[in-house]
Amino acid sequence: MIEETNKSKSNSIKPTRARRTTSKVGVKKENTTKRLKEDTKEKLRKSKNDNIEIENVKEEKKAPVKREKKTESIFAKSKLKVIPLGGLNEIGKNLTVLEYENEIIVVDCGLAFPEDEMLGVDIVIPDISYLEKNKDKVKALLITHGHEDHIGAVPYFLKKINCPVYGSKLSLGLINVKLQEHNLENSTKLVTIEPRKVLKFGKYFKVEFIRVTHSIADSMAIAITTPVGTVLHTGDFKVDYTPIDGGYMDLQRIAELGQQGVTLLLSDSTNVLRPGHTMSEKSVGKELERLFTNCNKRIIVATFASNVHRMQQIVNAAARFKRKVAVLGRSMVNVLGVSKELGYLDCPEDTIIDIDKINMYNPEQLVILCTGSQGEPMAALSRMSMGEHKKVQVTPDDMIIFSSSAIPGNEKSIGRVVDELEKLGAEVINNQIADVHVSGHACQEELKLMLSLVRPKYFMPAHGEYRFLKAHAQLAVETGVDKENVFIMENGRILEIGEKSAKMGQQVTSGIVLVDGLGVGDVGNIVLRDRQLLSENGMIIVVVSLDRKTARVVSGPDIVTRGFVYVRENEPLIEEIKDVARHELEKCEDQGIRDWATIKTRVREAMMKYIFTKTKRQPMILPILMDVDMDI
Ligand SMILES: [Zn+2]
Ligand SMILES: [Zn+2]
Repeated sequence: MIEETNKSKSNSIKPTRARRTTSKVGVKKENTTKRLKEDTKEKLRKSKNDNIEIENVKEEKKAPVKREKKTESIFAKSKLKVIPLGGLNEIGKNLTVLEYENEIIVVDCGLAFPEDEMLGVDIVIPDISYLEKNKDKVKALLITHGHEDHIGAVPYFLKKINCPVYGSKLSLGLINVKLQEHNLENSTKLVTIEPRKVLKFGKYFKVEFIRVTHSIADSMAIAITTPVGTVLHTGDFKVDYTPIDGGYMDLQRIAELGQQGVTLLLSDSTNVLRPGHTMSEKSVGKELERLFTNCNKRIIVATFASNVHRMQQIVNAAARFKRKVAVLGRSMVNVLGVSKELGYLDCPEDTIIDIDKINMYNPEQLVILCTGSQGEPMAALSRMSMGEHKKVQVTPDDMIIFSSSAIPGNEKSIGRVVDELEKLGAEVINNQIADVHVSGHACQEELKLMLSLVRPKYFMPAHGEYRFLKAHAQLAVETGVDKENVFIMENGRILEIGEKSAKMGQQVTSGIVLVDGLGVGDVGNIVLRDRQLLSENGMIIVVVSLDRKTARVVSGPDIVTRGFVYVRENEPLIEEIKDVARHELEKCEDQGIRDWATIKTRVREAMMKYIFTKTKRQPMILPILMDVDMDI
């Protein structure tokens, strides 16, 4: 039954221009690209806006006839390249490239948060050097939804590649906040899409956004029709039949596309290890109301800043129990502002109050909405737990709800915050005690539903660690996708899709770029290794003045240490280290060594050896030699 469906479906994919040709002449890729480039340039010269336009049905009919003669034999062998540049074998920095001939479309451009060992790094973004090299081909950046792992690197992308950004109203609203921070507002074209409306990019791509449900409003799947068939990228989704904002998932359209034939499906693997079905966001609202009922304490709710639906439910519960809501945390305030302005958050009048006004109300009249549900040390909730928050002091009159789940790796820091809050006498509720959180990602049954509606020819699990991708691949096979048509990819690997077959191709440059403050990519492995060394063992600087000609010590050595030992209590040790340095310098002088690099290495090594035997520590040692000209 399943096989039959598959067969009939692959037959039903409409033949395209490329497929109709029978020419077997092998054309070298480069030539094709070059010729096509020139061809396109010509067209661009004629009409500036030709490459990106909203589909015009009449024009559509005319256009291919002209092109056919010119291009038929050249395009006979063209393949669609699908290249994930981020998001696979990891959580975060999602970015997928679709390339056909001289045209590229990019789906999402997210960030990842740094690992513990990436000291001092603020965020991690995908390496887009492949796209930079092919800059002229990039027609558009399409955004599925406004989560950081999908939009966080957009400003960095736009600084290198200026192309229009397409997305839903809320996604673009959130991107706009970033553009303001990076001064990119005026140079960027943001285009708000409407679900189901088809957009045309260049010659080869037709794009349709399709509404899905997820933990942020206005989330979209994207269907991209190419000369080798349709690619459906689900973005992040769960199947919520009763969404908070009435933005129903367009399962009908997804099924319709499946009916017409989908060549490749990329689907969210985040929750693939969980059986069953994710609960509706609405269930959280009910639980919140239950907790608010008869509660005479102040209620503090920590949740993910971007979860506008959750925010809405907290506001609803507050309004229902006549409580005011104060908001804490920069990202929370940002998202609240944007979503209120764009109409995604419906706040009854006067519900939201300024945090400075909370002292005017009794505990039972207040809800504080804040960030820090992951135990982030700088977030509002952590500072409250340490008694370091200027505006909110936690007392036994507080009920604190973690309306969130622990992102793997954060359990320890969350535990610490909970401990501190309980020490202050507060009552802490989390999703182990009550159902105050549901996931935004599809569990197994929902993923199977997606696979069954779409019945793709090829399948690529997206968004997740390797074990997630593998489990999702297995699920796809169980729902009837041919085993050899399932591709577990890695970042940078090309999936080449032709008219009859698909295979994994070469690797392009991919990887991570570290952002530290204003520096993008200037922190590499060496810098990180140094930071690690410094953080573990500290640093010793040894300063010596030498005669330029004889390399004889004129003054010093002097020693400065940071993070190594407490100097006042270790003066004898510091003196001994100085002696070791002095002794080594004398030896160099005696042996007639004049090369400063050699002197530095010798001094460093002698000191290192001595310090290690004495302390079993390996601080970073920086010899600084200053030359003095004794003739002057
Ligand atoms: Zn998401
Ligand atoms: Zn995501």
